[in-house]
Amino acid sequence: MNDARVPHHPVPTTVETFDDLGLSAPIRQSIREVGFEHPTPIQSAVIPPALRGQDIIALAQTGSGKTAAFVIPLAEKLQHGGGLRALIISPTREIALQTQAFIELFGKNHDLKAACLIGGVKMQGQMRAIKEQPDIVVATPGRLLDHIKRKTIRVDKVEELVLDEADHMLDLGFLPQVRQILGKIPKTRRTMMFSATMPPAIEELARTMLRDPLRIDITPVGRAAVGITHRLYVVAPENKRPALLALLHQELGSTLVFARRRVDAEWLYHILQRQGHPVARIHSDRSQGKRVQALANFREGSHRILVATDIAGRGIDVPGIEHIINFDIPENVEDYIHRAGRTARVDREGIVSTIVTWQDLMMVRQIEATLGQPIARCTVPGVEPWVERQKPPTRTRSRV
Ligand code: AMP
Repeated sequence: MNDARVPHHPVPTTVETFDDLGLSAPIRQSIREVGFEHPTPIQSAVIPPALRGQDIIALAQTGSGKTAAFVIPLAEKLQHGGGLRALIISPTREIALQTQAFIELFGKNHDLKAACLIGGVKMQGQMRAIKEQPDIVVATPGRLLDHIKRKTIRVDKVEELVLDEADHMLDLGFLPQVRQILGKIPKTRRTMMFSATMPPAIEELARTMLRDPLRIDITPVGRAAVGITHRLYVVAPENKRPALLALLHQELGSTLVFARRRVDAEWLYHILQRQGHPVARIHSDRSQGKRVQALANFREGSHRILVATDIAGRGIDVPGIEHIINFDIPENVEDYIHRAGRTARVDREGIVSTIVTWQDLMMVRQIEATLGQPIARCTVPGVEPWVERQKPPTRTRSRV
């Protein structure tokens, strides 16, 4: 595959071939050109019922090959011309752009045109893309709704709808917009919904928005990827930063650092830059262009370190990340699993280092329960470890 916008790294595949899945010769040809030899489990489970036109709800993580699982059947079904017939709603701009690139690759032999409508980019270029009569639109919910309200786009001929990363959409508070958009699309459409997890709100959305859906679940047992070494660094709050700096000196590979808030990601970026580290950052206060550039620099290796927030970092699909550092512990176990899943892709190994203070220990226990094992307590040179049996500091009242 030679499209720089599409991440390319090995994923576990099945022994089946794409010929077994009922695809036509032109689409099989485009798959060969992309370089995929065997379908992944989610692709072999989704493609045949998708070609039959069934509604589908699929549990699948980023990295399972889910994008091609819905793009390939759409490419099979649609030919260029006839206006906008398929809509893909993505939670973030990065995921939307990657999906658009997949459509162009797999839809090449059907001349499919895709427009990408995402926030943070000028409306004007998007209006031009809409005027070119795309067959498929990939969009983030807010911007799509903007276009629908301004009547710059018509969605009344949409036959195919994909909701990608529905649980992520929920985390970002997009469900009200998603519901509004769904209300504007013909009820006769077919819907495919993908989600890494099925919280009750997503189950409810699926029940109300999908018709007799086929449920596909290929989530691996245990949910945490193999090949990951988890490490925990319990330190005093003022030692979080020295611990991070020491970890960056200890492991020299490609490293993704997670901060919980945008301001902290920005702050960490400047600290690391001042220390002379080759570092880039992505979070939602940065423009689309700058985020794309930062990811490209990280992917190509000119910046060894990338600082990200959960929202911006969720879809990061860069092969060969060796080290994930949680500068802040994530807010929930799902985010921990997602962050950890950015490393140890397939046969590779990776380290997830989490820096915590005593206040985070409840969350640590929840993560350990999900992983099914305790996380090894580790220390870094020059940073005093916090002893867990120690009681949290009690405020001493000063006498007046
Ligand atoms: P996704 O889960 O859609 O984000 O895909 C993760 C990665 O797997 C991307 O880098 C794809 O290029 C790659 N990929 C998806 N399907 C296949 C396949 N059948 N064979 C080889 N690589 C694949």
